[in-house]
Amino acid sequence: MSETAQHSPHHIDVKEFHPRAHEALHNPQIRHNFRKAMDGLMTKRKSAFEGWDLESLRDLGANVRLRALANLPDLLEQLEKKLTENGIKVHWAVDGDEACRIVRDICKARDAKTVIKGKSMVSEEMELNKYLEEHGIEALESDLGEYIVQLAGETPSHIIMPAIHKNTGEISQLLHDKTGTDLSNDVEYLTAEARLQLREKFMNADVGVSGVNFAVAETGTLCLVENEGNGRMTTTVPKCHIAVTGIEKVVPNLEDVTALLALLTRSATGQHITTYFNMISGPRKAEELDGPDEVHVVLVDNGRSSIYQDDELLDTLRCIRCGACMNHCPVYTRVGGHTYGTTYPGPIGKILMPHLIGLDEGRHLPSASSLCGACGEVCPVKIPIPDLLVRLRQESVDGDKLHPAKVRGHGAKRNALEAMIWKGWSWMHARPGAYRFGTNMAARLRKLQPGQMGGWTQFRTSPKLAPKTFHETLKERGQ
Ligand code: SF4
Repeated sequence: MSETAQHSPHHIDVKEFHPRAHEALHNPQIRHNFRKAMDGLMTKRKSAFEGWDLESLRDLGANVRLRALANLPDLLEQLEKKLTENGIKVHWAVDGDEACRIVRDICKARDAKTVIKGKSMVSEEMELNKYLEEHGIEALESDLGEYIVQLAGETPSHIIMPAIHKNTGEISQLLHDKTGTDLSNDVEYLTAEARLQLREKFMNADVGVSGVNFAVAETGTLCLVENEGNGRMTTTVPKCHIAVTGIEKVVPNLEDVTALLALLTRSATGQHITTYFNMISGPRKAEELDGPDEVHVVLVDNGRSSIYQDDELLDTLRCIRCGACMNHCPVYTRVGGHTYGTTYPGPIGKILMPHLIGLDEGRHLPSASSLCGACGEVCPVKIPIPDLLVRLRQESVDGDKLHPAKVRGHGAKRNALEAMIWKGWSWMHARPGAYRFGTNMAARLRKLQPGQMGGWTQFRTSPKLAPKTFHETLKERGQ
């Protein structure tokens, strides 16, 4: 298992979050598109869980994930054994680069020129499309949202709905410019046109690449949840299917999938069940009419085993990628996904990306939160996101415990003056005499208090020190 991958996805300067956030906040179109979409998703989620004992279901989901993670090494071995018995070739990748090389080698061995892709966030993490293009292999996204962002030369702005930042008019214009489709506000027409273009690509693709929602260790089954049928086409039409997945997606048995599926679809899109639920258990058998001749699975680590070693941060790996934390996040819903500049935006991105790109690079991410707690309240597998944000915030100034070697100066990033102030503060609060003397002095010298305190007072008024200390006030009242 791996050390954390070093590269930052999409080559966007992740550290430029603030200027991008500022820009997004002043873009009424972005604000409107996200507000509308997120309001709809929140309402749908709420009504999808009506009549359910949501807390018990979330407890069940959390327990399924915790049990799977507790036995992760054994489950992965069992999964590999079962997949191999089913005729699926298993590959292990330490990081995104190795995973890309594995996919390229499989394609090269088949002399493949075109790859059709189902939706896969791990392939985004690997920057697979770019890599394949550089090696002379055309990679086309077939999920409608992914297809739109690919045509626009963008990256997904949401893990479930990649093109959620665009409205119908923008999509119509894009399809018109790139593919010659007539301009229209009729969503059904636009969808049908895109499907027509994609269908031909499906028929001619040499290889299909998909993600995996759950990998069942007991049976060696790969489960894929989708709404458009493109996942089924990707995994059955081309002669070769490659599934790429993070190592944490494994669950012990099929029974576990039922609880997670019930939570996933309701939390993600407010659906009781998606239109398609694919269970892939091997290449086409002699008596079967369709399916690929070859099925491969690439199990990608890319920093996950490093997270696994930390008892607290391990909770991050429970994630089933439903996106509910984003839909309910007051920061994400205002600035949108692209502002983060990372593969995974929003609350899950803030706790996951620092491990994928290093806390040094993503140190501002845990702070891009109001800590309102909404993400933790809606997470279907009860990941304590706010607690993990606080932990990462602390590490962003005190040093990265998980990857100490990555942060210069033995991990310390705290400003020297700030460190001195906090040290003095802590010393004074541990000594009643010093505390009394300090607060007395502060009350007497309050006129000297600076009006501006750097970034703290950029958008707030500086709090004024009281003319009397708390103890003095109490004494006056005879208490
Ligand atoms: S952290 Fe929880 S709410 Fe967010 S995507 Fe993952 S499972 Fe869904």
